[in-house]
Parts: sequence; C-alpha cells; structure tokens
Amino acid sequence: MKAYNEDDYLNLAGIQHFSFCQRQWALIHIEKLWKENLKTVEGELLHKNAHDGQAFEKRGDTLVSRGMPVFSATLGINGICDIVEFHRNANGIQLFGREGKYVPCPVEYKRGKPKESNMDTLQLTAQAMCLEEMLCCEVEEGYLYYGEIRHRERVLFTGALREEVRKDFDLMHQYYERQYTPKVKFTKACKSCSLKDLCIPNLDKCKSVKEYITRKIEEDN
Ligand code: SF4
Repeated sequence: MKAYNEDDYLNLAGIQHFSFCQRQWALIHIEKLWKENLKTVEGELLHKNAHDGQAFEKRGDTLVSRGMPVFSATLGINGICDIVEFHRNANGIQLFGREGKYVPCPVEYKRGKPKESNMDTLQLTAQAMCLEEMLCCEVEEGYLYYGEIRHRERVLFTGALREEVRKDFDLMHQYYERQYTPKVKFTKACKSCSLKDLCIPNLDKCKSVKEYITRKIEEDN
C-alpha cells in the first residue's frame, strides 16, 4: 500500500474546498490565497469554541477529546478533529491509561446548516479514516453538528464515501505535485465563494480580458 512522506501531507480540511470547487482548493492550498468573509470568520469562531477547554474530558461512559491531531500516511493528509468521542464498548480498543475499551466517533462542528453537497460528510469520513489508521480500529459512524440549527446529524462511513475520499485526495496530490490550478468555471457556487474577488469567475463568461474590463467599466458607469 502506498504511503506518503510526511513532508507531502496535504491539509485534511482541504477536501471541503476541493469538493466545493477544485479551483478554490488550488487557490488556497497551492497558490496560498485566502480571503475571509463573514461565513469563514463565524466558522473559525465555532471551531475555536469546539477546541477550547480540556483536551480530554469524561462524561459518563464517554471520553471527549478536543482538537485532536490526526493523520493518514496512506491518504497523505493531516489535520485536527474538532471533537473525538470515545464511546465505551466491549468491541472497541484499549486506550492508554484508561480502563475498558472504547470506539472512536469523530464530531465536526459547522457554522451553518446541512448543505446540498456532501463536502462536510467527506471531511468527516477523512477524519474517520485517519483515526482508523492511527488507532488500528474500525470507525463506523460520526456526527456533523450544525450551529444554525443546533443539531447533530449522524453519518455512516460507507464504502462509497471512503472511495470518494481516496479519489479526491489522490487527485489533490496530483494537482499539488504539478502545482496545477484548474481554470475558472462559473457555477452557482461562485456567488458564495470567499475567493470570488480574487478568482474573477465572470471572466469565464467573456471571450477575453479586454472584454471583461470593458464590461466592468460599462457596469460601473
Ligand atoms: S469564484 Fe467560482 S470558480 Fe472561482 S474559486 Fe470560487 S467557486 Fe471556484
């Protein structure tokens, strides 16, 4: 099985950007462009709250780990899990310094509400795949908590989701190696994209840069 060198690891959370728009991922992770909008700032605050507090906390039969670093050499990724709950279960794994056995269950915090696309699910699946590789166990389910509706949704890590995660990271590694940024493709996602001012997606609709500038001047007059 292929194993990536640690120096070549990509950011786990990047799969969300890649799933939203491959160009957006490349602009952020290859060209290192980042622009904050209200959504990204609110999202950051929510994650900060999830990471704050004790690193490990016991709640009945559940251990709660906040801000747990994870990685996968086979996917070539690393990142941080907002929360990993360890549920006491006879079929689980032994944890150092703890009695009994536990099954890990990642929980990711999101600012908004459930999305039409599966980008959040893919990120959570990637976290589960990291936990499986690190802890030599099976992680069958996790949860996405949405701040806007104050509700968490159960996610089952199916074979299809795992395959999509593998394919996406494989492609991201290929793009990264080639330092390749996909061309602009205007979609409805562009309206809510935090990089639209830097990416200029409307350029796609024009035949040339000259035409784009002419049209902008006309719009501004
Ligand atoms: S503006 Fe559109 S094409 Fe450009 S990065 Fe954002 S989503 Fe992708």
